[in-house]
Amino acid sequence: MHKSHSVAHPAKLDGCPLFGEMGLIIGLTGGIASGKSTVARALENRGAFVIDADKLGHQAYVKGSDAFHKVVAQFGEDIVGDDGEVDRRALGAKVFGEGGSLKQLTDIVWPAIHDMAAQAIQHTLTAVPNAVVVLEAAVLIEAGWQELVDEIWVTTVDPDVAIERASARDGVDAASVQARIDAQISNAERSAEAAVIIDNSAEEIQLMAQLEIHWQNLQERC
Ligand code: ATP
Repeated sequence: MHKSHSVAHPAKLDGCPLFGEMGLIIGLTGGIASGKSTVARALENRGAFVIDADKLGHQAYVKGSDAFHKVVAQFGEDIVGDDGEVDRRALGAKVFGEGGSLKQLTDIVWPAIHDMAAQAIQHTLTAVPNAVVVLEAAVLIEAGWQELVDEIWVTTVDPDVAIERASARDGVDAASVQARIDAQISNAERSAEAAVIIDNSAEEIQLMAQLEIHWQNLQERC
């Protein structure tokens, strides 16, 4: 969790009747390379507090944790590396290899991330009661974490553009990005749950212009 570096606009919703005493928790989700991190950073620069579910995911099964024991019991001792931690590469090979099941892993890890996110949100709101908190989570909807947030913001991007951006960023070929897009829920499925839809198919300057409008709306709703 990060505190804002520069606060260009008030990030607190003091006296906001809409969200009461509890601030506002935005769930930010979207497909691969749709711009979630870019939007989260921009919201952070406006003073929001960002919680990155991806980062929590990396901590979810550290050595000795509940999820660590469950993952090892499910996938075998041979996924534990020399340092005693789960070796992600070995785990990935089991999960994505023949006969592997990603669901077996997410059934263990998603509840752990959920609890860590709930705790991080609570800590933030205890410290800053009327904060705007952004839970950035690619799998927010698939994992059923909607109940953690007050409203959902979705970043969308045309699949062709997503392929271009993800390939450039990750140095992977178009087919593997397409396979990941196919494995995810669609823009339409995410958008159906969204209070705010931010299309990021064009230039970053257009993304930022949309964001400014949504941020202003947020302030005006209070
Ligand atoms: P993922 O979930 O796949 O990690 P993401 O949804 O968080 O991705 P970002 O990392 O914000 O997406 O953006 C994906 C890539 O596209 C990054 O390299 C980012 O710099 C770039 N990018 C984001 N928005 C734009 C834009 N409007 N124009 C050009 N490049 C962009």
